[in-house]
Amino acid sequence: MKNKTIPNTGAIFDLKKFAIHDGPGIRTTVFFSGCPLACWWCHNPEGIEKNTFVNGTLRKRFFSDPEAGFTGSAVTIEDLMSEIKKDMVFYDQSGGGVTMSGGEPLMQPEFLAALLSACAESGIHTTLDTSGFSSRDVLERISGLVDLYMFDIKLMNDKDHLKYTGVSNRQILENFRMLCDSGRRIWARVPLIPGITDDIANLDSIVSFLVDCGKIECVSLLAYNRIGEDKFRRLNIEYKPGPLEKQDDGKLDEIRARFEGAGLVVSVGG
Ligand code: SF4
Repeated sequence: MKNKTIPNTGAIFDLKKFAIHDGPGIRTTVFFSGCPLACWWCHNPEGIEKNTFVNGTLRKRFFSDPEAGFTGSAVTIEDLMSEIKKDMVFYDQSGGGVTMSGGEPLMQPEFLAALLSACAESGIHTTLDTSGFSSRDVLERISGLVDLYMFDIKLMNDKDHLKYTGVSNRQILENFRMLCDSGRRIWARVPLIPGITDDIANLDSIVSFLVDCGKIECVSLLAYNRIGEDKFRRLNIEYKPGPLEKQDDGKLDEIRARFEGAGLVVSVGG
């Protein structure tokens, strides 16, 4: 993997303060630019590497390294930490911290490791929100620096995974298992995309995988919402799944029951 960022500088496309759905407590979420996947339903298409997004309306400042595969705003660890530390009191009172999200933070491993270390030095809890798509070597290097993983499991059938995300799931599933085996704290997250990930065969297969891996703290089922559709439209990019409707309460209850029936701790969000 090439990474030509200036040392100590990374590319992000957003910073969200007072986030309450990106891990425990009140958090600051840092959105890393660039993602090796191209999920049909992506909620943050402005964070995927495609250079065409540079002409979209969501960006104001640009940091571009097409060879490394991302565009975004250039930030230093010092500037980010200065912003992050402004909310220390909220992290402390709520059991919160910082979430690294994206895009895919593992695409900028040196910058990610530096930010995780800086947070640890300041006593700030860290969560990595990841697709899990990276080399084992990269994940092993940063794994000890992360307090909690929010790890997406999307599709168990590899052909489907390749079709709907652009990559095989083989390395992702191996990485998930490796983190479980090494005793890391993991919240598995399952995006429920109507007609793509929410069919019963896929969900049952995910349940079997999670039970087999063991040691998962909880599973977050993410009901469909239409944020991504709107962003694709604003960026003038085709939204391949077409218009979709959120699962109704009955369907969500049914899905929740399948996971809980296997002994998994479940939350439903969206
Ligand atoms: S892994 Fe996440 S950020 Fe990357 S394309 Fe998929 S939904 Fe978007």
